[in-house]
Amino acid sequence: MELWYNKNSAPTFDIKTSKSILHHFIFGNYKGHTLNVYQGCQHRCGYCYATYEWSPEFYDKIYAKNNAPELLENEIKNWRSGTIDPVMISSATDAYQPAELKYELTRKCIKVLQKYNIPYYVFTKSTLISRDLELHERYKSNCFIVWSITTHDESIRRCIEPGTPPASAMFKTIKNFGNRGIRTAVNIDPIIPLITDSLENIDMIITSCKTAGVKNVYGAFLRIRFDIWQRMKSIFKLLSKESDLLIQHYKKLYNFTEPIRYNYNLNIDKNYEARFLRIVDKKVRENGMSIGFPGLEGISYDKRTKFKNVDKNQLALTDYI
Ligand code: SF4
Repeated sequence: MELWYNKNSAPTFDIKTSKSILHHFIFGNYKGHTLNVYQGCQHRCGYCYATYEWSPEFYDKIYAKNNAPELLENEIKNWRSGTIDPVMISSATDAYQPAELKYELTRKCIKVLQKYNIPYYVFTKSTLISRDLELHERYKSNCFIVWSITTHDESIRRCIEPGTPPASAMFKTIKNFGNRGIRTAVNIDPIIPLITDSLENIDMIITSCKTAGVKNVYGAFLRIRFDIWQRMKSIFKLLSKESDLLIQHYKKLYNFTEPIRYNYNLNIDKNYEARFLRIVDKKVRENGMSIGFPGLEGISYDKRTKFKNVDKNQLALTDYI
């Protein structure tokens, strides 16, 4: 069976030099800068949105941007605007994939952000982030850690995202972070129709969120692109003897025929989505948590004071939320 990664060998590493590292984004009510210190990802999620043509070996060859910490510091020092929006680590890779144990680029970049008082939030599926628990704890008023968790079912997880840790291990990590006063959230994303959108799975995730002390939960359905669709068909074959039936259901739910046009993003049927997200919303609130993430805002950045006494002048994300 054709898989989207090389099953017979572990990912390999290489180093590259980047020309820039902070990239501005606006998404709905959120705005900020993305920071990706790796290209490629060992977590090997079949549904990944970050796989583009410039990275054909995305799952098998990981590039470490070895000049990222110096570049980040230079970009901050030469910042032209009076405000710096929060930094989102990472949008197109996982900052705490195993490569981080070897290169420590995420850790070094976080130290730079802390040095300049810049708020950040980390999106990860990893437990390796525990290595930096004390580092984030020192900065807990100005950071926010979000774990993306799709399923509690190990047989499903091993097929759809074979490089990630089990949900139970991630929830233990989340609890440790919450116990230290670091704000944590869970992103149930993507919710994969007919595979992870069972009430049982969502119940288990939301109950685990509550037990782990999570305050914010968010959920979103899978979007399909031409390359994601090819991988989804492999996933269907791994998970079901009736993969053709799943393909037919998806064509109805996402209203498409093959081939999917290059770079089209297909969204699930609005009624199906709304019905299920209402259930998620209700369960999250019943368990005393909030839906969505607090909007994070940037800090005023006065070049005259940027190297002075940063602890004393530090602004907290909580000043804005
Ligand atoms: S962890 Fe994120 S970046 Fe990495 S493969 Fe999974 S979805 Fe893609």
